[in-house]
Amino acid sequence: MKITEVRLGKISVPLRVPFKTALRRVDSVEDVIVEIVTDTGHKGYGEAPPTGVITGDTTDAIIGAIRDHISKKIIGLDIDNFEDVIQEVQSSIVHNSSAKAAVDMALYDLYGQLFNIPVYKLFGGARKSITTDITISVNDPETMAHDAINAIERGYDTLKVKVGVDPSLDVSRLSAVRNAVGNNVRIRIDANQAWTPKEAVRILNSMQEKGLNLELVEQPVKAADIEGLKFVTERSYVPVLADESVFSPEDALKIMQYHAADMINIKLMKCGGLYNALKIIAAAEIYGIECMLGCMLEAKISVNAAVELACAKKIITRIDLDGPVLCSEDPIMGGAVFNEKDITVSDAPGMGIKGIEEGRLMYI
Ligand SMILES: [Mg+2]
Repeated sequence: MKITEVRLGKISVPLRVPFKTALRRVDSVEDVIVEIVTDTGHKGYGEAPPTGVITGDTTDAIIGAIRDHISKKIIGLDIDNFEDVIQEVQSSIVHNSSAKAAVDMALYDLYGQLFNIPVYKLFGGARKSITTDITISVNDPETMAHDAINAIERGYDTLKVKVGVDPSLDVSRLSAVRNAVGNNVRIRIDANQAWTPKEAVRILNSMQEKGLNLELVEQPVKAADIEGLKFVTERSYVPVLADESVFSPEDALKIMQYHAADMINIKLMKCGGLYNALKIIAAAEIYGIECMLGCMLEAKISVNAAVELACAKKIITRIDLDGPVLCSEDPIMGGAVFNEKDITVSDAPGMGIKGIEEGRLMYI
């Protein structure tokens, strides 16, 4: 199974409602799609969202990295020599984790197809289904309470609430959400680097004292401030999950060795794909650090790859893969079934992606 061509395209999928965090507002998912074609007629699919404010990867940068660097290294290689192929992806260019992730997942898709095995089984096959949380966007307290009730009515039992846009309003927003949904619903919050370490400790502990009963906080402080993250982890009643602080396996190992966070959020777009995600998972297993598997605002091809990984490994105990359900339509055929909070992995070989609806992929 030799790689003959790496095709690139763009896809646009509207969101049900605009997505707002401390860093940005997004109205639709605009992703780069990768199709790796082989001499046997098999196709592997990958996807990368441009998430400039988080990864630094823009649409044109993703396209350029794949077209001018990664493709040139892998065209002509045989999927059967997988270690060679996958290492070429990682060494073809520095950074550019989203471009690498898109190609990496397309290659694992082909590797699974070559040996006729679903990728989640190839990696361990711990389970066939997982349960995701859903994100409640930052708005006024009444709107957030309304959105939270709406999510519960759709069956969700875990809410992720974005905080940090205006710290003075966060407590009233979260109180509104907690009062609306009662105490049996898990609430996790994501500050997206908004606070200083001292602010974070003060805000988090006052939130718990007010009975908000938070499950965890994601990335309370600046990504580079590992000491600050450790400061919060040691003093906060709320468990701390490192997100923007952890891109590479090296970052993850540093956080674990330094005890700077209680948990780690793995995202394929940050770490450069499944190959590196497996390294983070191995380190987390050694340290006993539970992981969340998260996504950016992504359509189904790349979230599906995350589902394959999440279904393979038990150290992944929390799932934040709500990208596809935040979209108002799904032009991707095959892959996991997303039924609100319940996600069931495909048993088809590879990643199980069958293709993209006619006319939705704009080749470039
Ligand atoms: Mg986050």
